[in-house]
Amino acid sequence: MRVLLASSELNPFSKTGGLADMVAALAKNLAAAGHTVGVVTPLYRSIWARHQPRRMDWQMTLPLGARSVSPEIWTLEPHPGLTVYFVHAPEFFDRDGIYGDDKAAYPDNAERFVAFSKAVVHLARYLPWQPEVLHVHDWQAGLVPLLVRHARTVEGWATAPRTVLTIHNLAYQGVFPAAAYALSGLPPDYFHLAGAEFHGSLNLLKSGIVYADAITTVSPRYAREITTREFGEGLDGVIRDRRTVLSGILNGVDYDEWRTEGNPFLPFSYSADHPEGKARIKAALQEEVGLPVRGDVPLFGTVGRLADQKGVDIALGALEEMLSTRIQFVSLGSGQPELQAALGTLATRHPDRVASRVKFDVALSHRIEAACDFFLMPSRFEPCGLNQMYSLRYGTIPIVRRTGGLDDSVVDYRDHPDRANGIKFELYSSRALAKAMRKALALYGNAEWMSFYRQNGMRTDFSWDRTRRDYEALYVGAS
Ligand code: ADP
Repeated sequence: MRVLLASSELNPFSKTGGLADMVAALAKNLAAAGHTVGVVTPLYRSIWARHQPRRMDWQMTLPLGARSVSPEIWTLEPHPGLTVYFVHAPEFFDRDGIYGDDKAAYPDNAERFVAFSKAVVHLARYLPWQPEVLHVHDWQAGLVPLLVRHARTVEGWATAPRTVLTIHNLAYQGVFPAAAYALSGLPPDYFHLAGAEFHGSLNLLKSGIVYADAITTVSPRYAREITTREFGEGLDGVIRDRRTVLSGILNGVDYDEWRTEGNPFLPFSYSADHPEGKARIKAALQEEVGLPVRGDVPLFGTVGRLADQKGVDIALGALEEMLSTRIQFVSLGSGQPELQAALGTLATRHPDRVASRVKFDVALSHRIEAACDFFLMPSRFEPCGLNQMYSLRYGTIPIVRRTGGLDDSVVDYRDHPDRANGIKFELYSSRALAKAMRKALALYGNAEWMSFYRQNGMRTDFSWDRTRRDYEALYVGAS
C-alpha cells in the first residue's frame, strides 16, 4: 500500500510529546512491512543542527488568504521505503519553538498550520507515487481531510486518497477566529455548525472529524470516552455522529529505542532474566539528581508535560501525605509555571527526598524510567500514554488512574491476578492516589511480589506489529 502521513511532530526531528513517537514508529513499521511510506512534517529550525536533509527539485505556490506562500520541500530517507518530506517555509517554521515560545502560542499558528496542511495536500496530489491513503494527525493537519474532500468532489480529483484522521488528544483542537477560515481558500459552504465552525470560530480538528473518511484515536477506551460529555471537550456530539467510522488503536512501543540492554542512555544493562543492573541504575540516578543513594528506599518517579491533564495537582497532594514515609520522588517535566514552581518548592522543602528537573531531556527520561521502582501517572484523562508502557518494559511498576489508554495497557491485581503488572485507582483525588502509593509500599516490602509484578511488566508486549496490523486493516477498509 502507498501511505502518506502528515504530522507537526516527528521523532527524532521534532518532539513535544507522544505524537512524535507514534508517527515515527508507525511510519517505520509500515515501511518495514513493505509499504511505500512518506511523512510530511515542518522543517523547524532545530532540525538543521543534527540532520542533513536534501532539497528536492519541487516548486509549489499555495494561496493563503489574500497572499500566497512558496515552501520548498527537503527530504531524508531514514529507512528503506520511508521518505520524510520536510516543508521548508522559514517565515513559519524557522523559529526556536514548535507551537510557541516560553510565554505563549505563536499568534500566527492558524497561518502556519493551514499553510502546512495545504502543502500536505499538494504533495498528496502531485507526488509521483500517488498515495492511496493520507493519514493525518491532530489539529495541525486537521484541515487536510476537508481540503481533499473539496478537491475530490468539486475539483474532480478522482484519484484522491482516502483520508484518516488520528486524534492524539481531543483537548487540543486548533480553534481560531472565524476570519482565519479565509486562509483555506474554500467557499463558505463548509463553515457551519455541521462543518468546520465551532461556536462562531474555526475549529481545525473538528473539520478533520467531520470530513475524514475514517477517524481513529490512540486507545480503545479513549475512543469510547470521547463520545461522552465528560471527555468530549465540546465535540462529543460531532464525534457521536461519526461513530461508525471511529475506532481506537492502542499505540505500540518502539522497543529498538526503549530497551534495557545496550541502550546508550542507560549506564548499565539489565533484563527480565538479569535484573541486577536496575539497582545500579537507581543508585546512579540518585547520585545524578542529588538524592541520598539508598537501595532500600522506594523511588517514585514521573516524566511528562506539567499540565492539568497529567494530574500533577493530585500528585502534589498525595506527595504531601506520603513524604512523611520513607520514600523518594523524582520528576522530569516542564509546562505550567505554577506546577513547575510547586514542584520546585517541594524539592526545596524535602531536599533529601524530592528532586525536580524542569527541562526536556530524552536521556534523563530513560534513566528515570529505568531507575525508579514506581512510576506515577495519575492523569485526569489519557488518550494513550506512552510512559506507563515504557515503565512496564523497564521493570518499573506504573501507578495509574483507570482512564483511557492507561486502563487499556496496565493490569491491576483486581483485573487479572495472574498478570498483574501495575496499580490502578479510580477516583481523581490525592487521597485515592496516596492509597495507591501505600499499596506500592506494601508491594515494595515483599521482594517476591515486587519481582512478580516486575517480571509481568517486562514481559508485557506492546510491540508495533499488532498496532501496525490494525492500521493496515483500517487503511484497506478506508480505501
Ligand atoms: P503526551 O503526548 O500527552 O505528552 P505521552 O505519555 O503519550 O504524553 O508521551 C509523552 C512523551 O514525551 C514520552 O515519550 C515522554 O518520555 C516524553 N516526554 C515528556 N516530557 C518529557 C521531558 N521533560 N523530557 C523528556 N521526555 C519527555
